[in-house]
Amino acid sequence: MQTEKEDEDDASPEEFFGLSDFTGSDSDQLSFSTGDRLLVHARTSSEWWWAELQGVFGYVPASFLHQGAEEDDASLEDPWQDEEYFGSYGTLRLHLEMLSDRSRTEAYRQVILNNSSSLRDKVLMDLGCGTGIISLFCARLAQPSVVYAVEASSMADYTRQLVKQNGCEAVVTVLQGRAEELDLPDKVDVLVSEWMGNCLLFEFMVESVLLARDRWLREGGVMWPSSAALTLVPCQAHSYYAEKMAFWERPYGLDFTPLQPLAQQEFFTKPKFSHIIQPDDCLSAPCDVISLDMYTLQVKDLEEIKGQFQFHMEKSGSFHGFTAWFTVHFESLETGGATVELNTGPNSEPTHWKQTLFMLDRPVSVRAGDSISGTILLSRNPVWRRHMTVTLQWSVNSSTEGTDNCQVETKSFPMWR
Ligand code: SAH
Repeated sequence: MQTEKEDEDDASPEEFFGLSDFTGSDSDQLSFSTGDRLLVHARTSSEWWWAELQGVFGYVPASFLHQGAEEDDASLEDPWQDEEYFGSYGTLRLHLEMLSDRSRTEAYRQVILNNSSSLRDKVLMDLGCGTGIISLFCARLAQPSVVYAVEASSMADYTRQLVKQNGCEAVVTVLQGRAEELDLPDKVDVLVSEWMGNCLLFEFMVESVLLARDRWLREGGVMWPSSAALTLVPCQAHSYYAEKMAFWERPYGLDFTPLQPLAQQEFFTKPKFSHIIQPDDCLSAPCDVISLDMYTLQVKDLEEIKGQFQFHMEKSGSFHGFTAWFTVHFESLETGGATVELNTGPNSEPTHWKQTLFMLDRPVSVRAGDSISGTILLSRNPVWRRHMTVTLQWSVNSSTEGTDNCQVETKSFPMWR
């Protein structure tokens, strides 16, 4: 059987082409350029394939390859997947989840309330208004001259009704369409949007916000949120590890450990969304690894965002992975200082984003006093524009064994492709 399979692999590697440049992050990975012809010998996992380029072998990310000429590849027609994306916002499921998230929704309400006198006679844009909740808060709690409520999904039809139903039609104008295609009579004083995704950037709605800022925010206008930060902490995840990995050690008294490499591929390759980290599972104080200024951030900056960390273990335990979450700040129209913060971390009220867990392949025992230092890199997928890969690089420096043998580890997590 084995020989047959090898023959088969040798006989028929599949031909693929590079969709965009890829630079391997270690010696196992094969770097290639857009248009390069690669031969795929094995589809090792759904993300990583074993391939050959001019006689050199290595792993390549499957999502960077396509078969046949680029224009023939139907799946590439919409790298933003807008039909699926806006389709999902045309139904109630996500709006119910967002509106049920009181910490999130109350944060926006609070910002508007705190700034209500300064909002008087101002022109506002609510980019991606969904059901119109933020626009309605503005109209009800302040007296802006107009709120342009922009929404690309079919929810906009209902938003118009909700605006009317709540007597806000004199102030709120619902504009159905993509913010990128918007035409307005004047620039706006305030651009407010709830654009944040898992790990802050996932889905990259922030690009639409930046483009709207450059086109429609008047000089000196205000962005809400005004800044954003991504926070990381090394953590334990005993129950998740037990459920997905240790489970195979002895189910029903049998040794199922040969399935563990498969379990690692299946459960630990991608990050776990909707993780709830208990403050007790944090091995050290968290650290802000990335900070974004919504006034100066450029669309091109989104391609690669890098951060650094150094954590000092406050307790001994199993280092299972890293957990990430984000915080956004809203500055005051009056003072320019921060007024409201929406923090999605474990020490704040839970939100619908919860936290994002990145599992290591194997847990590492750490002791109080050890430190973990390294870098995080968010690389936007060059093809699938709403996706990114999070690459973590770290080393554990033991407080007792010296730093001679500390090894640098790397793991890349596709989110989602
Ligand atoms: N503001 C609402 C909804 C936030 S979800 C609330 O706080 O409850 C983000 C919304 O933005 C979705 O409804 C989505 O359809 C919309 N959206 C995303 N990108 C957009 C774009 N480029 N133009 C217009 N609407 C967009």
